[in-house]
Amino acid sequence: MLQYLTVPVTQFQQNASIVWCDATGDAAIIDPGGDLGVLLEEVGRLGLNLKALWLTHAHIDHAGGTGELAQKLGLPIIGPEEGDQFWIDGLPQQSQMFGFPPAMSFTPTRWLHDGDTVQIGNEVLNVRHCPGHTPGHVVFHAPQIDRAFVGDVLFAGSIGRTDFPKGNHQQLIDSITQRLWPMGDQTVFIPGHGPESTFGRERRTNPYVGNT
Ligand SMILES: [Zn+2]
Repeated sequence: MLQYLTVPVTQFQQNASIVWCDATGDAAIIDPGGDLGVLLEEVGRLGLNLKALWLTHAHIDHAGGTGELAQKLGLPIIGPEEGDQFWIDGLPQQSQMFGFPPAMSFTPTRWLHDGDTVQIGNEVLNVRHCPGHTPGHVVFHAPQIDRAFVGDVLFAGSIGRTDFPKGNHQQLIDSITQRLWPMGDQTVFIPGHGPESTFGRERRTNPYVGNT
């Protein structure tokens, strides 16, 4: 079985998620944006073997701790999609601009593409490319537990910002309606910020993508 624990990190309260296979104890962290001590303490408390870092996109609050953690523990960095290269290159400047601890740039071990899968222990998750908030944004779908880790694509009652460089509002709407909704109304999603919701609830009530 796939399990997860969401841990808000950084002053932006970004939802980093520790995901693990309970048969093997192997774990990955989705979006280790910062507060690495807090994340590693949880990994240790749960008795997990941390094997990889997975990224939805390369904004500072999601990716800021990635380079340091990968270097410190010798972990592979999986994702996002190549479109976020310029955001990765800009991490040192992003950290200064937003008053974050210094962040390192890095080279992902593996870029992700639409239709790819990622594996942790015995558990496989599907990757969908969902551009719009950033051009290289990906989401991780775990159909075996009806969960999706969607980063800053969709929130409970809102959607991701598109006023950054290479943001694109229509692309974001298309990502949500064409790549998230087909995962099913029952799917619970873990957004990059704030509480979980379901795709069905957002389809009914989200003012940005309701009735789509
Ligand atoms: Zn973002």
